[in-house]
Amino acid sequence: MKNDLTKSLFLQDELVTQTIMNNSEDTIYFKNLDSKFILNSKAHANQFHEKDVSDMIGKDDFDYFPPEFAQAALDDERTIIQTGRPILGRIERWNKPDGDVVWFQAYKYPLYDKEGNIIGTWGTSRNITPLKRAEEELQRLNRELQEANQRLEILSTRDSLSGLYNHRHFFDSLNVQKNIELRQKDHGLESEFSILLLDIDYFKTINDTYGHLIGDYVIKNLSELFTKSTRLIDTCYRIGGDEFAIILINTDLKAAHNVGEKLRKIVEDYSFEINEQIIKITLSIGCASSHETETMKELVTLADSRLYYSKEHGRNQIN
Ligand code: GH3
Ligand code: MG
Repeated sequence: MKNDLTKSLFLQDELVTQTIMNNSEDTIYFKNLDSKFILNSKAHANQFHEKDVSDMIGKDDFDYFPPEFAQAALDDERTIIQTGRPILGRIERWNKPDGDVVWFQAYKYPLYDKEGNIIGTWGTSRNITPLKRAEEELQRLNRELQEANQRLEILSTRDSLSGLYNHRHFFDSLNVQKNIELRQKDHGLESEFSILLLDIDYFKTINDTYGHLIGDYVIKNLSELFTKSTRLIDTCYRIGGDEFAIILINTDLKAAHNVGEKLRKIVEDYSFEINEQIIKITLSIGCASSHETETMKELVTLADSRLYYSKEHGRNQIN
């Protein structure tokens, strides 16, 4: 029954072969043991601007492709002839003399005679250049997206005036530090970190006396002073208008107190110079250690209450 159907459609071998060889968009070729073409599809001839498929017979890849490309194909065919195993899905890049790049995905097989002897190779190649271009475009877009995300990350974690990390990032960092501390405790390791909250004394009068722009200048320069005067592993934050925070890693309360006192002195001695004017400021500071409270909210509240104490007891001091 099946046989009758095949016959009724005139699907004899020759018609099948001709249909495929004349109409396939993929290029199809047959080669002998010396990798010379013995049969080529129309698409293959068209690819090399050959008028007739018979013009390709007896030629090889070296007649059409750059030597490196042809050599790689020849190496593939030698392997196939030796091993009898096909090479499937090989991605090939053809650098055309006019500068164009064409990408192929090639499937290469051993060619057997009726007795089962290998008498050459045959294969098909699909032009996947549009797919490659789309892939490259996607990679480019992904890179752009990554860069945009990095910029967004900076924007969302940094304060634009001072360049320091912002209030939101301060709380994120505190939670990260607390988790590290708890994990280390699980492994029998003691660790402790501390925070400093620092607020400029009477900053409103700086704005009132010199103007808001000069106030901004002071905030910016003070931020640089904080970064310069602390260790690389300590992180500085601007958590409010004239309020800053510093997380001191591996630092107990006493050591943090010393760091805070050192900063207080540096700022007290420092002269902010702008438009030939010298501006002096002082800081009130509150200090607390991670061992003093359970939660990070409590830690900040404790440091804040000590900062308030500093303000109430004459400013320009640390508690
Ligand atoms: P205290 O010693 O009690 O801290 O006094 P203070 O004047 O510093 O405190 P207050 O909180 O009353 O004022 C803080 C001032 O900081 C008010 C505001 O004008 C100023 N400020 C907040 N953000 C900025 C900013 O981005 N730029 C400038 N130039 N000033 C700011
Ligand atoms: Mg203030």
